[in-house]
Amino acid sequence: MKHYLGIDLGGTNIAVGVTDEKGGITEKYSAKTNAVQPFEGLVRDIAETAKKAVENAGLQLSNIAAVGLGTPSCINPRTNLLVNANNLNWQNVPLYDELKKYFDMPVFIQNDAACAALGEAVCGAAAEYDNAVMVTLGTGVGSGIIMNKRIFNGCDDMGAEIGHTKLVYNGLRCTCGQKGCFEADASATALINQARNAAENDPKSIMNELCGGDMSKMNAKIPFDAAKAGDASAKAVVEKYIDYLAAGLSSAIALFRPQAVIIGGGVSAEGDYLIKPLKKKLFDCTFSAEQIDIPEIVAARLGNDAGIIGAAMLCRA
Ligand SMILES: [Zn+2]
Repeated sequence: MKHYLGIDLGGTNIAVGVTDEKGGITEKYSAKTNAVQPFEGLVRDIAETAKKAVENAGLQLSNIAAVGLGTPSCINPRTNLLVNANNLNWQNVPLYDELKKYFDMPVFIQNDAACAALGEAVCGAAAEYDNAVMVTLGTGVGSGIIMNKRIFNGCDDMGAEIGHTKLVYNGLRCTCGQKGCFEADASATALINQARNAAENDPKSIMNELCGGDMSKMNAKIPFDAAKAGDASAKAVVEKYIDYLAAGLSSAIALFRPQAVIIGGGVSAEGDYLIKPLKKKLFDCTFSAEQIDIPEIVAARLGNDAGIIGAAMLCRA
């Protein structure tokens, strides 16, 4: 039995899992990310966190066959540098070379949203399918495309950015600097802004109550809770948000025709309340749905473990 290390490096936590060849987690350990230090210091922290996880699993680093790491960027194969991880203030850093100082074994680095998709495709919501697309609705819209149980990321690993496909010509400004990206209307951040606007325009909406009259306390759950309680403004917000989601996902389906679309992020906890109307809208706006139906639409199942498992599964030969 081979052991792999899966590392999910985020702006808040370094989460490490020791897994078996099939993605089963045998041990987990995590530490806070200290991004306010030189790059080399954070890589040392990663190595120490990983070492703890390995020791807790009753193993030694020499027992680990390979290491996979997911972070919000990719390695440019021409320069071998990690391109851009904003939340860590890393631009063109030699992450691969620095990690190799600590790990005398194969090391794989991938985009974290792609890792989450791979995790869900190997042992989560899309385990029974070979081809899946996952979107993670959070601060932005992360995405991963899985073909034959492998990550598809395009040339130089810089593609598969469903969140930055165009939804509205000349639309809202996106975090990437462009306008009208899918992410600008369909991220959890976008939903919060949409809910805020609706609450401000309708003082009687219970969304105002649910955030205690303080718009800075608005979150992505409030419009759903208010809509379930019958609030008309909240219902309109949720309906419009699902319209945006359906429009963006219909493009991804037309391009890749996955067997399943996985919805991740906090919003996916709404379950059927989100998925059922989304399926209906997708059926209405997706290419050839009348003839061949739409793919399965499923909520993510592995939560934060998806990133760890997917990173470890990068190590598969
Ligand atoms: Zn964008």
